[in-house]
Amino acid sequence: MQNKNSIRRLVKNNCACYLGAKHGISNYCCLQDGLCTFFSQNDDLPRCTYFEQGVLPTDEKLEREYKSERNVESEFKTAQPRVNCQKCKATFSANSNRQKYCEKCRDKSANEKSKLRMRQMRKSRLDVTL
Ligand SMILES: [Zn+2]
Repeated sequence: MQNKNSIRRLVKNNCACYLGAKHGISNYCCLQDGLCTFFSQNDDLPRCTYFEQGVLPTDEKLEREYKSERNVESEFKTAQPRVNCQKCKATFSANSNRQKYCEKCRDKSANEKSKLRMRQMRKSRLDVTL
């Protein structure tokens, strides 16, 4: 588990249940009433609902790693609306109902937009100099 240390750091800094040392137990979690799962040496891929809902979303990158490692993504997808991309017609899980394009097409259209913007900028600059 590569991100164990990042998870532990996040727990230490942000988890309201993490109390450091208490009752002679270090890395004490008040929900577990004992050792925080993420500091356990046995379980390689521990999970904690409180952490997933209240702490993990503060670190997007880690959240992605954490969920792909634990295959949480599949659970997530059922909760998200399935949408057909208006551009390539591919089905994807949208984060919101307003999302019209899949990630690929969204990136592409963002690129195209910025390209267009650059072109217009250059053109207007050209108009000024001429
Ligand atoms: Zn698409």
